[in-house]
Amino acid sequence: MSAYREDGRTVVLIPDRMSAAEEKRWVERMLDRLDARESRQIRGDDELAARACELSRKYLGGRAKPRSVRWVTNQNTRWGSCTPSEGTIRLSHRLQGMPEYVVDYVLLHELAHLLEPDHGSRFWALLEAYPRTERARGYLEGVVAARLPAQRESH
Ligand SMILES: [Zn+2]
Repeated sequence: MSAYREDGRTVVLIPDRMSAAEEKRWVERMLDRLDARESRQIRGDDELAARACELSRKYLGGRAKPRSVRWVTNQNTRWGSCTPSEGTIRLSHRLQGMPEYVVDYVLLHELAHLLEPDHGSRFWALLEAYPRTERARGYLEGVVAARLPAQRESH
């Protein structure tokens, strides 16, 4: 299986024995990989802070104003964290190399926590403007599932 871009089109090659459901799942996965390869890598803290400003302006009317936004390497169970009282946001370095829309989602999620600390309906209403919330959540769930130890087959 492979995916590439050619003359402005995206070509995904998959075996023809797949069911429509499998095909859909694989096409999405290949497109995610392609996205990740091409993603404008946000590596530095300055870039991350600039991105946070952009997302706040675009989706939260500029109301979320973090005091500091940083990448951290010591966060292994969460993708991001936010301390609203201090206005600080931390993103796990494990997000680096993932598709840009996934990094954006986590960043926007933490920005929204500056305005709504809890995961209540008002919190999710803030994220409604971001069109890829569901897809990004699905992507991250897939990453977590892939990392779980494989179940042993019983005979
Ligand atoms: Zn949250």
